Amino acid sequence: MSKSSKSETKKWESVCTRCGRCCYEKIDFEGRIYYTGLPCEHLDPGTKRCKVYDQRDKQRPGCVRLTPENIKKGFLPADCAYVADIEDYPAPIMPDDEDGTRDE
Ligand code: SF4
Repeated sequence: MSKSSKSETKKWESVCTRCGRCCYEKIDFEGRIYYTGLPCEHLDPGTKRCKVYDQRDKQRPGCVRLTPENIKKGFLPADCAYVADIEDYPAPIMPDDEDGTRDE
């Protein structure tokens, strides 16, 4: 990776506020994303950071890398810093939403 590519990656990753909410399992139902209350096994609940971040592609096949293109697909929480300013963002349904999936 070139020096400028590394710094671009660092800048892109600095947008993340490390809330950890996107590291919860999701269900795609008819094109709509529903969050579950189940965290990824690699999410550290204390730090809210991924415990295998640098090896996440190998450790967790299916972990989606955030890119300017795929963040628009609706799998990040509506107030995530990456998508908060995207107009008409198709926000996922969160467990606490009225029509969410959590059974209380
Ligand atoms: S939801 Fe957004 S701000 Fe929170 S950890 Fe995920 S990418 Fe970072």
